[in-house]
Amino acid sequence: MQRPLAGQRALITGASSGIGKAIAAALAGAGATVMINYRSGKETAEAIAHEIRESTKSAVLTHQADVSQEAEVIAMFERLQAEFGGLDILVNNAGLQRDAAFHEMTLEQWNTVIEVNLTGQFLCAREAVRCFLKQGMRPVSKALGKIIFISSVHEVIPWAGHVNYAASKGGVMLLMKSVAQEYAPLRIRVNSICPGAIRTPINRPAWETPEAYQALLKLIPYKRIGEPEDIGKAAVWLASDDSDYVTGASIFVDGGMLLYPGFESGG
Ligand code: NAD
Repeated sequence: MQRPLAGQRALITGASSGIGKAIAAALAGAGATVMINYRSGKETAEAIAHEIRESTKSAVLTHQADVSQEAEVIAMFERLQAEFGGLDILVNNAGLQRDAAFHEMTLEQWNTVIEVNLTGQFLCAREAVRCFLKQGMRPVSKALGKIIFISSVHEVIPWAGHVNYAASKGGVMLLMKSVAQEYAPLRIRVNSICPGAIRTPINRPAWETPEAYQALLKLIPYKRIGEPEDIGKAAVWLASDDSDYVTGASIFVDGGMLLYPGFESGG
């Protein structure tokens, strides 16, 4: 088995389900020592850690923290320092939706999504950069550190009924690109993965019945829903030296969702 991330330490936020879980398994499979962050559900997080440890033989820790709370994020990075001696890869994955028609959207729905999807990604990225700068270059990678934001096709595709979510992901796009620009000279690589429709709990109504699934396929030229493992593989590549010349990029892993599928038959 190839272990391109051997000797590296990775933190994946919101990793006790869906895409984050698959990324944790993929990075551990590639040889990284992994910290699984979760907000609630200690038993589930521990079970996932056990499963990944058994299948990959990599070290896996769990840590409870709400990524939108500054003190909890700082405490999580202090634990990373204490247990792993630092960090090489951050995957900013934690995210949620609070959907509503725009005219009915409450300030609480707006704030909850922005605080987790945008402020949470800011807080974790800032602590990761501080950590990279403090520890200096390590022989395990050509980069001082790597940050992967999990954005969405909705960083560019408008989404009626989900304006808080689309605004948060649009914000992630320029957060990512600006951090990438600021730290490229210091060899920190910063990129986003922008998933299309991936089979996870966040969008269950869009795929769980045959009718919903057929409707979803109209939006996907490649004619299948994405699986969390599709994102895990992209994350391994972005975290490894194979992508050493890639920074500031939004990588769309979406089965062609961005290709204007309405024009498939000539418009
Ligand atoms: P998911 O609901 O399975 O996973 C999201 C995880 O984030 C959950 O484990 C949740 O507990 C965690 N989380 C939420 N708030 C948190 C907080 N404050 N602190 C720590 N963790 C928190 O859904 P998913 O599809 O795996 O989503 C993962 C990421 O992928 C999200 O950022 C989402 O926006 C993005 N995404 C998903 C899809 C898709 O089709 N599934 C498409 C595009 C983007």
